[in-house]
Amino acid sequence: MGGTFDPIHFAHLLIAEDVRRRFRLPRVLFMPSGSPPHKDEGEVTPAEHRYIMALLATSDNPHFEVSRLEIDRPGPSYTIDTLRALKAELGEGAQIYFVTGADAVLEILTWRRPDAILDEAKLVAVHRPGFDLARLDETLGAERASKITVIEAPLANISSTMIRGLAARGESIRYLTPRPVIDYIRKHRLYRRDGVAPEPFEETTT
Ligand code: NAP
Repeated sequence: MGGTFDPIHFAHLLIAEDVRRRFRLPRVLFMPSGSPPHKDEGEVTPAEHRYIMALLATSDNPHFEVSRLEIDRPGPSYTIDTLRALKAELGEGAQIYFVTGADAVLEILTWRRPDAILDEAKLVAVHRPGFDLARLDETLGAERASKITVIEAPLANISSTMIRGLAARGESIRYLTPRPVIDYIRKHRLYRRDGVAPEPFEETTT
């Protein structure tokens, strides 16, 4: 599951469980982007906060893990580098499914080595109602599009953008993401726009 996860929410978790069941996968690895190549620095919450929220949200599922691979790798988080690093770790025979939003997949031609990505992994594009599926064919061409499995997002009106907006206005984000993530967002004053800066991430020193 590749994404910014700013923050992770129930739709991400349902998608992960659905994909795990559908493709009979032994595990799902959540891969928060370290430095998203197409986003400005400052636009995205510090990676450590996003990583910890992903850990908090997934800790009760034995099939879910969160990877630090992109967070710990310096420079932009290119998907092809991640897939190759995972193959090196798991062995060339490993079958990787790369699950992400259909909006992001539409942009894949602007990513580094798009055709190599399609060779290294089976792409699963998650779309929300309103997304025009024909655009995948039109933008990527029929051959590339045929390598992509498209699935519909459950809880389609939950998005990270929506949660950030509600949190910024001080409104409730209950039932949109697991309770420990809500508590973490509150505690660290993430997404607030009332002049209170989010807490910088501090490593625990022992
Ligand atoms: P994004 O702009 O945060 O997300 C685009 C859309 O996809 C949003 O609607 C988002 O909803 C949804 N989405 C994101 N991750 C999802 C997931 N795992 N499952 C279902 N829906 C998801 O896009 P992004 O997160 O930055 O990029 C997605 C992935 O593509 C990341 O792994 C990123 O590293 C990769 N990428 C690679 C390159 C490159 O290699 N050059 C360039 C761009 C992106 P929510 O906001 O609700 O999550």
